[in-house]
Amino acid sequence: MRKFSCFSPVTKLPSRSATTTSTLTSGTSTAIAYSGCCWGCCGAGGRGCCARTNGEGTAVARTPVRTARTTARANPMFIVFSSEFDAATAGNDGQLILLHLDRRVGCCFLRKSPAGTRTVAGAHAGMIFRPAIAEERVSRMKRFGLLLIFGVVFGGLPSALYGQPSAAPPVPAARSGMDLDKLAEEAIEWLAGLIRIDTTNPPGNELAAARYLAEILQREGIRAEVFESAPGRGIVIARLQAGAIPDPSRALLLLGHTDVVGVEPERWSTNPFGGEIRNGYLWGRGALDDKAMVIANLAVLVALKRAGAPLRRDLIFLATGDEETSGEHGIEFAIRQHWEKIAAAFALNEGGRVLVKNGRVHHIGIQTSEKVPVNVEVIASGTAGHSSVPRSDNAIVRLARALTRIAEYEPPVQLLAVTRRYFEGLAAIEDGEAGRWMRALEEPGRTDLAAARLGAMNPVWNAMLRNTISVTLVQAGFRSNVVPAEARATLNLRLLPGESADSLVAELRKRVDDPNVRFEVAAPSRYPAPPSAIDSELFQTIQQVSKQFFPEAAVLPMLSTGATDSAQLRLRNVQAYGLLPFPLTEEDLARIHGDNERIPLDAFRAGLRYLHRVVAEFVGAAKP
Ligand SMILES: [Zn+2]
Repeated sequence: MRKFSCFSPVTKLPSRSATTTSTLTSGTSTAIAYSGCCWGCCGAGGRGCCARTNGEGTAVARTPVRTARTTARANPMFIVFSSEFDAATAGNDGQLILLHLDRRVGCCFLRKSPAGTRTVAGAHAGMIFRPAIAEERVSRMKRFGLLLIFGVVFGGLPSALYGQPSAAPPVPAARSGMDLDKLAEEAIEWLAGLIRIDTTNPPGNELAAARYLAEILQREGIRAEVFESAPGRGIVIARLQAGAIPDPSRALLLLGHTDVVGVEPERWSTNPFGGEIRNGYLWGRGALDDKAMVIANLAVLVALKRAGAPLRRDLIFLATGDEETSGEHGIEFAIRQHWEKIAAAFALNEGGRVLVKNGRVHHIGIQTSEKVPVNVEVIASGTAGHSSVPRSDNAIVRLARALTRIAEYEPPVQLLAVTRRYFEGLAAIEDGEAGRWMRALEEPGRTDLAAARLGAMNPVWNAMLRNTISVTLVQAGFRSNVVPAEARATLNLRLLPGESADSLVAELRKRVDDPNVRFEVAAPSRYPAPPSAIDSELFQTIQQVSKQFFPEAAVLPMLSTGATDSAQLRLRNVQAYGLLPFPLTEEDLARIHGDNERIPLDAFRAGLRYLHRVVAEFVGAAKP
């Protein structure tokens, strides 16, 4: 039997050290699993990993990943990363799942079994396999180089909708020369034009937006490719290339989404799709989420192109759609169909914030990780009949009782590496009481009280500290004189990365304690992803540039409570960061998905300048 260690960590977070917990055997290989979690090999091109457990610790080995993906939709115990894997097995206590076993590197993932008590929160922020990643990137780079040469020699460059007549509104003409102030004013016009394209999802209609963006890029001499992901829906990809061939191994991807959530027009003071400029604001659905980011990304590309300075890295622009639902026709489509065009080592996306408080930038939150949404149906049943003869087993009453018990349950506080760093950093700059409670989070015996106090001050802080449960839909009854046989509610769970929906549902089932109430966990549309590193080159660049632009502000890694397209990228070994670059107040941010969404024009100008500097520093272009 061949023995090898599956870990050779090169970096470790100080708060977590690796300890041997189990030795696993599979076929002819033995791997030693640690209580840390390592992600370096997962998601690296061609090296993915997956494993299946039946909840009792029995794993199914050598499952082809295609089968795995299909099964995963119906089975939340199934975790899939990418590509094929060599072998997999699980610990006999149901708590360890070995995801990837290979002659060079291995990877394991520790999770709580449904009945288990072991806490694994924060385990994701474990070790990184630098050598393995480097090796992968080199081979990926070579592969892409060969592909390109093959394409040019034998088939010409890939065809796309480049140059196709646009059905979108006319694009304001760009001026020549490289002046960032002038470019910002042009970009404001581009943003107004983009807002005027109604991309409410569903149905989306993002193809018109993609063509509109492609036309702006093409006018600037930047090749842009539009791809239709479904009728009327689409994405646009463009690239500034540093060398003779595309090099994903160092590339930076600028990501944004063109779809928006719906509106209740009667609650707006202006036309949500009018792109009106009034009182120093640009108004409209998507002004913040996420069309401003899309246009800022595009303007940065234009700025670097106009400047004509040499680049050290490829810079890729991607505007997806369908972010506000599952991402199937947006980021999933882009990854599935066009990965070779968007593959990058780093990405910038929405999800972070530059928060203005008392008239100055207070802190910059860089999203490095995000919670995972999972829907759960709660179904109560009872005897149907005429309402004139009430019974004690009324399904609606039963559901109401169950929901009350669910609402009374508060999942325990769990500090992850990212939230620990976030609250430590914020404690140093927050006002007296908030700062004191943030420091108390780590004091033995005071964690729960501190979390409760912080949650009362800001519900987002509470949501960052634990799994949360929101009741979002209730359905029951169809006539006023009929007692229905069934009543259902939808719970939207937001899980900390690494947490299992099954464990939480098992806890809820126990608390509801009613055999006539059942729970059904829906197939997840988003998967848990490893966090992005807080010591990467890009993170450091953001920190340095932030210090230049906002010297008094703290720069903090952040866990976002909402889901973004970054998760899918992180699963593919991209170091993705959420950085909404515009300095905004809480009041501005509250309009996201709300009424009268708008962006202050000064915030747009400042955010564009800041984003431009981050990107220019990182891709190595000269400063304007
Ligand atoms: Zn968004």
